[in-house]
Amino acid sequence: MSFEYAPAPESRAVVDIKPSYGLFINGEFTDGTGTAFKTINPATEEVLAEVAEASDADVDEAVKAARRAYTRVWSRMSGAERAKYLYRIARIIQERGRELAVLESIDNGKPIKESRDVDVPIVAAHFFYYAGWADKLEYSGYGSTPLGVAGQVIPWNFPLLMLAWKIAPALACGNTVVLKPAETTPLTALLFAEICQQADLPPGVVNIVTGAGDTGRAIVSHPDVDKVAFTGSTEVGKAIARTVAGTDKKVTLELGGKAANIVFDDAPVDQAVEGIVNGIFFNQGHVCCAGSRLLVQESIADDLLERLKRRMSTLRMGDPLDKNTDVGAINSGEQLMRIRELSEVGDAEGAERWEVACDLPTKGFWFPPTIFTGVSQAHRIAREEIFGPVLSVLTFRTPSEAIEKANNTPFGLSAGVWTDKGSRILSMANRLRAGVVWANTFNKFDPTSPFGGYKESGYGREGGRHGLEAYLKGADA
Ligand code: NAD
Repeated sequence: MSFEYAPAPESRAVVDIKPSYGLFINGEFTDGTGTAFKTINPATEEVLAEVAEASDADVDEAVKAARRAYTRVWSRMSGAERAKYLYRIARIIQERGRELAVLESIDNGKPIKESRDVDVPIVAAHFFYYAGWADKLEYSGYGSTPLGVAGQVIPWNFPLLMLAWKIAPALACGNTVVLKPAETTPLTALLFAEICQQADLPPGVVNIVTGAGDTGRAIVSHPDVDKVAFTGSTEVGKAIARTVAGTDKKVTLELGGKAANIVFDDAPVDQAVEGIVNGIFFNQGHVCCAGSRLLVQESIADDLLERLKRRMSTLRMGDPLDKNTDVGAINSGEQLMRIRELSEVGDAEGAERWEVACDLPTKGFWFPPTIFTGVSQAHRIAREEIFGPVLSVLTFRTPSEAIEKANNTPFGLSAGVWTDKGSRILSMANRLRAGVVWANTFNKFDPTSPFGGYKESGYGREGGRHGLEAYLKGADA
């Protein structure tokens, strides 16, 4: 029987992309004083819109608006009143969920089934969760005094989700914010600005300034910013840490990762295969906590790899708006180049490359799901973050060897353990130097659960009660 593939595309008509966008300052969209840049659809290279690049003067305006709103309105409002706004925002996100998901997939390249079923629901859940804290801060353990104006800079891999992780706790604690989305994915942050208007959020409580590294630098170095929250690369994180050193700004950094996904010989193998696929091919591998190093016990390595390759061959790659798509487009030409370069280093170092055989679209930025076997600890592909759909496979014999290999990395963000034994899960979790350890699952996120890293993965926690610490003065304040 022959089978013809029938695409099931989500309608693009639900979003209204304007030809150009300004900055969102003091509750209104303004042109700004800088130049403009283009944002494109990475799956087609179509220009979607022109977006204003915020200058130092624009950032200054935004910080002033945030300061005014903080002093006159937001910090004076009761927690219960602030909560009403957060609940309202959460509900509007749910109501406009389809629009947000489609826009996120168009601007970022991620499959609609992920933006629709993962990103947007967790974004709404984050606002609901922190709305619940706004009138209960005295029970947080971190006091209930806000810091003031928060400057927040986020990356392109989860544009809306990273925005929610930053804005929801900041507002719940009584701070106001100036947030900069990444230059390749500004559109959902600008739609969020419209949602703030729709929710009647007092002007200046949330300010969104678009732009690239210079705009980010202007925010983090602004003298009237009390708190810097950054998610992005370790390299930029280190630069920011140097900038704020010696000031009284509070700072949290969520940086890169190189997670080990460890599979023991007693693991439910088919489930583990699903977890490996989810760990590294979810969001095209553009995930800071991606399970990019598979550590598999030697006795089951051949069988597991065979099943993994078979499963990978069923992954559907292509149009991010097609509801059947499993793997979408790489977010930018620049990121595609980085993935290609590091993969070529893997070839040169003698690792063996296997990739899914499939026809890639001729337009846009694409990289097939790939695994490297025969990888050793010294290889760069085992040490550096590739931030794409590329898995390095290493083997181990004993739990101690697995721990040693898993911890032998400058990063410490996350890890996965697959085994039938509860006692082994606990002992592994205690010995792994990673902020999050998933057992018999991977890439699970919930607003109630803190997330963050050790070592070069950064410091501070986002999510849960712990996430409030970053936005409050502390119990003794
Ligand atoms: P990036 O560091 O290049 O950019 C992140 C943001 O910082 C962007 O908005 C960018 O415009 C801005 N920026 C660039 N230079 C700056 C400067 N000098 N001062 C201030 N801001 C500046 O990172 P990226 O390539 O966009 O994102 C990928 C990285 O983010 C990966 O390393 C990934 O692991 C990390 N990440 C970490 C987490 C986490 O929670 N730990 C989550 C998502 C992504």
